Parts: sequence; C-alpha cells; structure tokens
Amino acid sequence: MGPYTDKHTNQQISLSNPSHTGSDGISRINFKRKKIPSVNELAESIFGGNKTLLARAITLIESRRPEDHILAQELIEICLPKGPESIRIGITGVPGVGKSTFIERLGKMITGMGKKVAVLAVDPSSSVTKGSILGDKTRMYELSRDPHAFIRPSPTGDSLGGVARKTRESVILCEAAGYEVILIETVGVGQSETAVHSMVDFFLLLKLAGAGDELQGIKRGIMEMADGVVINKADGDNLKQAQRARTEFERALQLYPPKQNGWLPKVTTCSALNNEGVSELWQMIEDFIKSNKESGYFNAQRREQNTNWFLQTVDERLKSSFYEHPDVKAKLDKLVNKVGNNKISPFKAADLLLSSFKKN
Ligand code: GDP
Repeated sequence: MGPYTDKHTNQQISLSNPSHTGSDGISRINFKRKKIPSVNELAESIFGGNKTLLARAITLIESRRPEDHILAQELIEICLPKGPESIRIGITGVPGVGKSTFIERLGKMITGMGKKVAVLAVDPSSSVTKGSILGDKTRMYELSRDPHAFIRPSPTGDSLGGVARKTRESVILCEAAGYEVILIETVGVGQSETAVHSMVDFFLLLKLAGAGDELQGIKRGIMEMADGVVINKADGDNLKQAQRARTEFERALQLYPPKQNGWLPKVTTCSALNNEGVSELWQMIEDFIKSNKESGYFNAQRREQNTNWFLQTVDERLKSSFYEHPDVKAKLDKLVNKVGNNKISPFKAADLLLSSFKKN
C-alpha cells in the first residue's frame, strides 16, 4: 500500500510497514515516522476527538494486511459501545446533481447548531477506474476546514462489499469520536445505494428537475429506498420547473407501497448554491427521526441492520474460506471442465467439491 496523505494535516503517512511490534505483548500500530500508538492509546485519542488519529485509525481499517485487520477489529470492539446518539444519513444522486455543494451547506448548518458532522463516502467506481468520483479532495472546501467536521473520501481498490464494510466500520469510529451526524454519500448509478441504504437511518435522494429518470440514471429501486427526495438547483430560470417536478414526484411516490414505519416519503426543493431549502430538509429529517424513535422503529431498524451485517459477514467469510481452501482450489477447475462437457452433473460436482472442504 502506498503512502496516504492525511487530509487534515497534509502529512504523508506511509503504511508500507505498519503493524504490531512490541516485546511487551501490547498490540501496536506502526505508522512510519510517527510515535507508535497502541490500540488502547489510539482508542483514547479517538474518544478525545483527535481527528488526525481518527483518520489514521480509518487507514488501519482500510489496510489489506491481515495483521492490521486484527488490530482494526480490536479497535472497533473498544469503540463500539462509546458512540453518542447519532443520526446516520445516506445521500445519493448522480454526478453533477450537487451532492458536494449540498453536503457542504448541510454540514455547515449542522456544525452551526453545535453538532459534529462526519462525511464518509461509498464509491466503488474508484476501485474500477482508479479515479474516484467522490474522492476529489477539493470538494467541500469550507466544511473540510471546519473543526467540527470530518471528511473522509471513499476507500479505494476494493469491491463494493469491501468498500461498504470499511465505511460501516468507519461509522463506528466516527461515532466514538463524538460525531453525532454521519453523512454517507454515494453516486446514484449502481449497487452502492443498496449498501448505503443498509447502514443509515434516513436515505435522501437528490434529483434535478427537467431530466428524465433515465437521464439521471436513477433506478426505480432507488426511489423506493428514499425517505426523502430533494430537487436541487431550484433557482433562477430553473425554479418553476423544480416546483413542477416536486408535484410530479409527490404524485409518483404515492404509487409506491407504504413504508414499514408508516412514513410517507417527502419531496422538497432546494438551491444548495444559494443555501435555500436546506434547513427545511433538516427539519424533515428531524421529524422522521422523532417519529421513528417514538414508534420504536429507529432501534428496530438498527438492530436489523446489525443482524444483516453479521449474517452477511458470516456468508462472505464462509465463501472465501471455501474458495481459498487448497483442496477446493485444486479440484474446482477440473470439475468446471467436467460439468461443461457433461461428464458429471452439476449437482454431483457440487457434492464432490463440498465434501472435500468438509473433510478438513
Ligand atoms: P456532485 O457531483 O453531485 O457532487 O455535484 P457538485 O456539488 O459538484 O455540483 C455540480 C455543479 O452544480 C457545480 O458547478 C455546482 O456549483 C452546481 N450546483 C450545485 N448546487 C447547485 C444549485 O443549487 N443551483 C445551481 N444553479 N447550481 C448548483
């Protein structure tokens, strides 16, 4: 892994030689050229709200080294019970809709209310193209300078599953560092919305007026996930069109089946550029959270999300330990060939492969 530039200090942190040393048996994290903090020291700094060490802890989560993985898990266990009551908000919309402008405004408003806000991103495109849509560090210029805000671009070089896991673990660390509002941003064009939806309390869809759903790359499933829709760029010549779009969306949303919690998704307009409509949107989110807490749905949903992540992780680990098993590796290609040539049925081949795994 190459050097990582800490966004807040602009210092280069190399993770080329990380991980535990220590003849005293204490787990230590070796960030090159830095004092080596133990997992407990790192956790204490996070609880104290130290942004630089929070960023480094997230780097540890993102590391691919198995020994770092062990330390990261230790750290997460320590941080898990320490978070404040947080609100996790997912924000999606196609590139250009105004997500970063909007998040900058919303983030500044939240810090203006005396709350701490963390912005994370799920952008698996960066692992494919090696260029991240959401990772551009010049975005959210003002918010990145706010002492009560913490911004972290999407983890790179990983599958969606890997990116999602790392973001989810980062949420736990951010909450332990006292961030009460967690904004998780994603590009509204693929599977990443489903992953983000499964880790947030409120899911917000940003749209533009005047462009069809196809043009905006928004799939029906994303509309169904939305707890709120905001039509951005409701300003200048676009204002009337945005107001019309709002009515259309309200009508369209009525056609979807009601949500489990009885909430009817709301539609608002805003101009992130002119900072209009952002506080109304925040009010919508607060109403939603209040009603979900009163009905018990808020906690039920968080419990369900945790359970799903647990089962999903077991699933992933089982699969990878299966496919990485030497006996399975040795037999897989041969069996694929035989199945392809009708020399053996797919079911018999599956039995054979599974039994060579079970034997061990
Ligand atoms: P993202 O790709 O979704 O993060 O979108 P950006 O926040 O980078 O915005 C894309 C472009 O739209 C930029 O040129 C912004 O200045 C512009 N923009 C964002 N919000 C608004 C808005 O409310 N009104 C107008 N007119 N332009 C906006």
